[in-house]
Amino acid sequence: MRLLDEYGRQATDLRVSLTDRCNLRCSYCMPPEGLDWLPKPELLTDEEVLRLVRIGVERLGITEVRYTGGEPLLRRGLPGLVAGTAALEPRPEISLTTNGIGLARLAAPLREAGLDRVNVSLDTLDREVFHKLSFRDRLPDVLAGLAAAAEAGLAPVKVNAVLMRGVNEDEAAPLLRFCLEHGYLLRFIEQMPLDAQHGWQRENMITADEIQERLAGEFSLEPLPSAERGSAPAELFAVEGSTVGIIASVTRPFCGACDRVRLTADGQIRNCLFAREESNLRDALRGGAGDDELADRWVGAIRAKRAGHGIDDPSFLQPDRPMSAIGG
Ligand code: SAM
Ligand code: SF4
Repeated sequence: MRLLDEYGRQATDLRVSLTDRCNLRCSYCMPPEGLDWLPKPELLTDEEVLRLVRIGVERLGITEVRYTGGEPLLRRGLPGLVAGTAALEPRPEISLTTNGIGLARLAAPLREAGLDRVNVSLDTLDREVFHKLSFRDRLPDVLAGLAAAAEAGLAPVKVNAVLMRGVNEDEAAPLLRFCLEHGYLLRFIEQMPLDAQHGWQRENMITADEIQERLAGEFSLEPLPSAERGSAPAELFAVEGSTVGIIASVTRPFCGACDRVRLTADGQIRNCLFAREESNLRDALRGGAGDDELADRWVGAIRAKRAGHGIDDPSFLQPDRPMSAIGG
């Protein structure tokens, strides 16, 4: 069985949210006061997560598993989950998206458990801007986490950055300089309408074109052919012996090449970040469903995947769940 939709796309990249909680409050993601976190009994246990990941890998053609959140480093069982994933046959690629807080301590054990790669979110190099943007004074922890990831061999370390007007829009070039100097691969992500506060406005968004212009002021960027992009959403540019990527989710959507599927921390399959429906595998699993039935339900959830997210369509509705609860 494969996870095929009506448009011929196959989902092979599974993003698993391990918690909706976070120790930062990035304003493009959640409000300063935080959110009503999911009650613990609703969250999948480590065993339940591993069972669903195993079904995805062994039966449904999942080849890459990315653990995310909320903040996945807050999940105590993370090294065990990574080790359990690494023991699957065929062994999937295992990656992690994190804000980096705690990575200084966890990078080496996670590498040892089988983690292959890591994406660390870093939107600014200015401690005050970091504090203002995330409502926490934790920039030094993030930088230490990045260094530890490189030291532990989680290469290539990728950095995700979101630019916001009036906050960190002038940091495109400094962030790229920093990443080039440290050997990190920088990827800018256009801000999407996924914040819990519903504060996103199209007019205020820093577009991919604008990011490219800002970088071109200081760097010579050479576009790489789209073949090198594959189903990866970043448009890549060669720069000073490395690359920089821009993920234009809003202005140049890549839905036609999407190979992703998401499992939320409470066991719902989402076929798109912007999906309005979910498929509840947790209740089926807890109700005694066997692997065959869970796989069938998962296949059904993917078949219904829409052609595109339609952010630019007047009828677009933001999903009920914010990014932190879906798993970015
Ligand atoms: N807490 C981890 C982190 O920040 O990397 C993992 C979860 S976070 C939701 C995953 C990624 O989504 C981060 O790189 C973050 O910058 C990005 N993100 C969150 N809200 C976003 C938004 N509204 N638009 C674009 N990217 C967003
Ligand atoms: Fe937390 Fe990541 Fe959301 Fe920032 S983007 S508030 S680090 S979940």
